[in-house]
Amino acid sequence: MKKKRAYNRFLAYGLSIAAFSSLLTIPAAAQTNVHVLDVGQGLSVLVESQGHYMLYDGGDRTKSSYVVSYLRDQGIVSLDYVIASHYDTDHLNGVVGALNVFPTGQVFSPDYTADTRVYHSFLSAIKSKKLKNKQPAVGSQYRLGDASFQILSPSGTGYSDVNNYSIAIRIQDGDTSFLITGDAEAESEAEVCRADLELDSDVYVMGHHGSGSSTTWELLQNVNPEYAILSCGAGNSYGHPHAESMEKLQSMDIQLLRTDKQGTIIASTDGSSITWNVSPCNDYTPGDPDDKPAKPQTSAGSSTKGNPSVNASSSRSVPASTTYILNTSTKKIHYPNCKSVKQMSEKNKKTTTESRESLISQGYTPCGNCNP
Ligand SMILES: [Zn+2]
Ligand SMILES: [Zn+2]
Repeated sequence: MKKKRAYNRFLAYGLSIAAFSSLLTIPAAAQTNVHVLDVGQGLSVLVESQGHYMLYDGGDRTKSSYVVSYLRDQGIVSLDYVIASHYDTDHLNGVVGALNVFPTGQVFSPDYTADTRVYHSFLSAIKSKKLKNKQPAVGSQYRLGDASFQILSPSGTGYSDVNNYSIAIRIQDGDTSFLITGDAEAESEAEVCRADLELDSDVYVMGHHGSGSSTTWELLQNVNPEYAILSCGAGNSYGHPHAESMEKLQSMDIQLLRTDKQGTIIASTDGSSITWNVSPCNDYTPGDPDDKPAKPQTSAGSSTKGNPSVNASSSRSVPASTTYILNTSTKKIHYPNCKSVKQMSEKNKKTTTESRESLISQGYTPCGNCNP
């Protein structure tokens, strides 16, 4: 499905009809669906093809149970692949949630460590479930139903910014293709461009939530997408998406869909054309730069330099300790004020301030009523 720019307007009209009909039924011919979940400020992508599933990232802590229930709603009982693009909390938390719920064939994660609770929960989930986990080689390819995906990064080590460790992939089904780069920044994007791999893609999931430190001209021109999907939180404090990224899309006439304006975005492909659950909004408005923190989430040469195991943004988002009530018999986590706590027998009741992630990694699940 390659780029008929002259027909963009006609296509946009056709798409809105396609979008309407997809509300009624999923097109019978669709073989691969790419869901970019609305996880606010974070990223989570589900790829399904012929009963095979891959989860790429899972959003932040507050979205973990949403991601798990979204997967359950798709009828998923197991995952073929789970990719943890890198270990920042806005990508990794929901991965841990999913690994604790769904049997998983193969986990891919990059070769660095992080000194965060969620990273340790990730490691303990892998250990307790005896999951296969490895850093995939750049260039390697894996099959997922009718689709396949190729690993594009990271090809380097010792990055001063952990975002550059992001595992980038290109998914292909027939003549259609999708590119996802996680939070890879300019340095890693340049390596992706030098790797002599096919980059040209119909759909580009914007790197690092539309930050100006990603989506370089070089990458964008190599990918040459017809559509971009942006995953970011409305009114996020980073000012994502940044104006320079939005201007690049506009100047290349790339149609835009965004989770902060449109919710979860689903692209369906039969291998020759792509249909959407919503039409592109083509709203290129950047985030409010006044909301940017004094110290951005991920600037190259920041305090993480020379020590990739420390991630300032992750440690900042670790919440103050919360008290939970556990039912050691049903393995549920509750807030102290949940009505089930009153009915719980004393012998099954346990009070704890352990982190939610750590409890989940021990096999506990959050109560569906109080939603801890
Ligand atoms: Zn991120
Ligand atoms: Zn990141």
